[in-house]
Amino acid sequence: MIVAQGLVEAPVLDALFKLAPKPRPEDALRALGERAVQDAAIGVAQRMRELAKEEDEARLTTGRNSLINYRRFYVGGVGVGLVLSGNAKSPYEWWVFAASNTKPSKKATKFCAEMRILRAAKDMHCTCIGGLAVVGENQPDGRSGKLRKTLDPCAECRDMLRSECNRHMLRQRTLIVTAKPHSQVRYVETIPRMMTAHGEKW
Ligand SMILES: [Zn+2]
Repeated sequence: MIVAQGLVEAPVLDALFKLAPKPRPEDALRALGERAVQDAAIGVAQRMRELAKEEDEARLTTGRNSLINYRRFYVGGVGVGLVLSGNAKSPYEWWVFAASNTKPSKKATKFCAEMRILRAAKDMHCTCIGGLAVVGENQPDGRSGKLRKTLDPCAECRDMLRSECNRHMLRQRTLIVTAKPHSQVRYVETIPRMMTAHGEKW
């Protein structure tokens, strides 16, 4: 892959530091509701989506037949949260992780951007995920059949969000921001509300 994670995520970290240099869980939970952070997060999610597309375009021009995404259905995402700093005066520091989805073939296991974000959050011992930003073309949901104006996490990702091993990182007020690529259309809601839209309980 051609992605340098640290560089891609920098605009979100900058916006978060401006919002709260010494963040508390409360700051993490409001972050994606703040316009500057939201714009940065959508921009980075979109960038991750573009990088994945560019990767496959490069593979196609060099005649490699393995694409990272055989359906060419690209989704970029960013997670924003807190990790423990080990400093008593300022116990938390910002955590940001950007990812895109992959599914190299029909038979291959799919890995969504949201799955990668959750895995990274767990690996980093993230104590509170304040929000997720997801950019992708909307399509009817594979389980609920709902076609919303933007793309929500898929059924498997929603199950992952709810699962015992991840739930402790999320709060009732953890936000999800979803946007269409290159569009002003975006939704901001809590994860439980997004689940309700699919007829599911948090
Ligand atoms: Zn998914």
